[in-house]
Amino acid sequence: SELRVRKPSSNDEWSDLSIHVNRLLDKIDLYVRNQKQFVEDVSHELRTPVAIVEGHLKMLNRWGKEDPEILEESISASLQEITRMKGLVQEMLDLSRADHVDIDYKDEITEVNSTTRQVFNNFVILYPDFQFYLDSEKDDKELYVRIFRNHFEQILIILLDNAVKYSRERQEIHVSVSQTLTKVEIAVQDFGEGMTDEDKERVFGRFYRVDKARSRIKGGNGLGLSIAKQLVEGYKGDVRVESVLNHGSIFYVEFPILSDTRQVYKLKQIAQ
Ligand code: ADP
Repeated sequence: SELRVRKPSSNDEWSDLSIHVNRLLDKIDLYVRNQKQFVEDVSHELRTPVAIVEGHLKMLNRWGKEDPEILEESISASLQEITRMKGLVQEMLDLSRADHVDIDYKDEITEVNSTTRQVFNNFVILYPDFQFYLDSEKDDKELYVRIFRNHFEQILIILLDNAVKYSRERQEIHVSVSQTLTKVEIAVQDFGEGMTDEDKERVFGRFYRVDKARSRIKGGNGLGLSIAKQLVEGYKGDVRVESVLNHGSIFYVEFPILSDTRQVYKLKQIAQ
């Protein structure tokens, strides 16, 4: 923006100027702190995809040479994770530069039940100490929403990652998919730390972490939920949390459902 400086001519003007300069300094200070945090934390957000690729490579190393099915599955899963990492790095770079991520929202349709199950299965493999439950009212039913599949997966991964990170002794996570006339709702529930009402308002903000030290140990950087929120809202969805401190949290994501199947098929044709 335009910057003009004129020498103040009265005491009032001097004090106005000092207020402005101080506000500016506060902004710069916050900006520098966020940047520092960003540089420090980027690697953490990449942990999950790196761990998934590592897991697949280990599997390949052990069994993949003899088993072409494992070979093919692991290679394609690893490539998918690498694509995700590339996207993540780009989004983080954007985050560091702007107030908002420049997300490339794509006009695509995704089937909720099968996509949720796929992400869910990855977590079952990644965290064998946890008990995972997937409830879907109509598991075999195809529920379509207007969202780029990678983005849908990314939102789920952020919520499941958090559910794992902020669980305590009770390592149990419930995922559910439900449907109303107009909406599809995905819920991710844990029985861990939970949060206060005050924090419920704040956790979707950039770089916000309830417990800085603990979150850091767990690989947190305070970006996940802000990215999830931005993604969800970009696709006309909504995200909210219900939580009780020391008892656990439920994160809900909902999207308008594409109920008109003709619309779905038309979109599919366009996509092909
Ligand atoms: P982080 O990388 O720190 O997990 P997020 O943006 O994903 O960043 O989350 C912000 C903060 O919200 C976390 O640091 C944590 O304090 C809190 N939080 C997120 N998910 C949960 C959860 N399932 N249970 C309790 N607290 C959570």
